[in-house]
Amino acid sequence: MSRVYNFSAGPAVLPEEVLREAAEEMLDYKGSGMSVMEMSHRSKVFEEILFQAERDLRDLMGIPDNYKVLFLQGGGNLMFAQIPMNLMKHGTADYIVTGQWAKKAWQEAQKYGTANKIASSEDKTYSYIPDCSDLPVSPEADYVYICENNTIYGTKFKQLPDTKGKILVSDVSSCFLSEPVDVERYGVIWGGVQKNVGPAGVVIAIVREDLITDEVWPGTPTLMKFKTQADNNSLYNTPPCYGIYICGKVFQWLKRQGGLAAMKERNEKKAAILYDYLDKSKLFSGTVRKEDRSLMNIPFVTGSAELDAAFVKEATAAGFVNLKGHRTVGGMRASIYNAMPEAGVQALVDFMKQFEEKNA
Ligand SMILES: *Cc1c(COP(=O)(O)O)cnc(C)c1O
Repeated sequence: MSRVYNFSAGPAVLPEEVLREAAEEMLDYKGSGMSVMEMSHRSKVFEEILFQAERDLRDLMGIPDNYKVLFLQGGGNLMFAQIPMNLMKHGTADYIVTGQWAKKAWQEAQKYGTANKIASSEDKTYSYIPDCSDLPVSPEADYVYICENNTIYGTKFKQLPDTKGKILVSDVSSCFLSEPVDVERYGVIWGGVQKNVGPAGVVIAIVREDLITDEVWPGTPTLMKFKTQADNNSLYNTPPCYGIYICGKVFQWLKRQGGLAAMKERNEKKAAILYDYLDKSKLFSGTVRKEDRSLMNIPFVTGSAELDAAFVKEATAAGFVNLKGHRTVGGMRASIYNAMPEAGVQALVDFMKQFEEKNA
């Protein structure tokens, strides 16, 4: 067996410890005589998995009691609809468009009401976060929406926008559990788990209780009402059982690492190894304004499409995989989520240095 250094943006690298545990429990989960994939979601055994996962997530993030934790399906793209369906109670919302995922969310919201774009960084290929200290927030807006870490472009909100008293809704898919958060600053924090937390198929939404009501867009499917899932502990229908089980294992792993403050420190150290090299290199450079750099997704280029392609090819052969950048940015992107060890980032930088020397 040989594992590669996997820099995929998502689905992405998971902690090896978690994968080993899951492998050990595959045929017989804790004496149940079956795998977690084979058991009823109504069984005591599965309920314990689900409730323990929620307790651990609450501990990790310090989620206050007046917030519900919902385990949902449909991925990020379904949430783009589910958010306005549940929250556009007066038919208006404001969107800050800092990348493709925010743009898609904004476009989807237009089906359910008036979605205003109140700031954007599209003019420079989303390579920065716009100034959000004094935005033209609509007086009638039900919420202000952001994508907090832009997976494709490698930018991150270092400061939350001033929403002028409106509820903040944040897509944290690619920075979920990468650092501590102050949950109370948000109305909704949600993320698809396949970037930094678990396998594809689970979306976690942390929703302030007073926002969960029967007052939703009239055509909202039963399953897409937050209230349906909140009233049923995410067990209204069959949830993505195996995905939740793996997320639960990742939560426990994060606790063993020292929690989110420890992860932040570790993630800063890891990202600095790559950014410091990019700032010194004569061949490679980062594509994002320095103060807006993400700790999780790091795009970089050589300035030559041929050299970029050669780099990706040679890196792949050397065991550094999934480094090709998104087609709208070009070049390369290294996603260095929680589960990427520091040794992986260091090895990548050593490989980049060799490539730079060879191509000087
Ligand atoms: C990947 C991603 C999405 C889309 O998720 P899907 O589950 O593929 O629909 C949305 N937002 C962010 C920030 C992402 O990184």
